[in-house]
Amino acid sequence: MIHCSELTKTFRRNGSEVVSLDRVSLEIGAGEFVVVRGPSGSGKTTLLLAIGGMQQPSAGTVTLDGENLYAMSSAGRARARAEKVGFVFQMFHLVPYLSLLENILLAAPAWPSAEARTRANELLEQFGLAKRATHRPDELSAGERQRLAVARAMLNRPGVLLADEPTGNLDPENAASVIGHFTEFHKAGGTVVLVTHGTAADSVASRVIRLEQGRLAGD
Ligand code: ADP
Ligand code: MG
Repeated sequence: MIHCSELTKTFRRNGSEVVSLDRVSLEIGAGEFVVVRGPSGSGKTTLLLAIGGMQQPSAGTVTLDGENLYAMSSAGRARARAEKVGFVFQMFHLVPYLSLLENILLAAPAWPSAEARTRANELLEQFGLAKRATHRPDELSAGERQRLAVARAMLNRPGVLLADEPTGNLDPENAASVIGHFTEFHKAGGTVVLVTHGTAADSVASRVIRLEQGRLAGD
């Protein structure tokens, strides 16, 4: 499902080179629930962005469902990403002036189909937010905002959910609720790659990967 080969990412900063990922090779099969751990600055976010087609590596390849992501045109990559991947961030990344429904539909093409609207409303229902479809994100609690972000990530029925410390700003109860949605997705056959320091996903994770200084330090 996801195959990373010798993935390397370096940044230039004040004339010196920062190595964010250092020849990481990794195979993640369909239906796995992978937890990624590692100290701050170890490359977790860089790895997730590369897997999700959002950041070109300096070297190495990422193959998603047999498609070599960074060998494609950026339009092709955007299409693959929209079809196959849902992404959830620590800081929610919601648009404050759009309604909850509109925030979910951001994951759809520019002119959402009737089907996408139906799906968005189903997700609001599933995530306990249906009554608030016309509200704005700032009327929600942090836990509700993150549930909305997870719902948005699921709009296009992706095979993979990538989540970067999605419970980092939540109390334990809300963290458990968000992890519960990932667990349901996984039970339905989805693949999850979750960066987290928390332990809420430990009982469902099929695998824990550890990064240290951009290198795979444990699997
Ligand atoms: P983590 O998510 O594990 O905290 P990151 O993947 O965000 O780590 O970052 C890994 C390293 O790469 C850090 O040293 C970070 O400062 C550096 N880095 C990440 N993104 C950039 C960037 N856009 N420009 C420069 N350095 C970056
Ligand atoms: Mg990070």
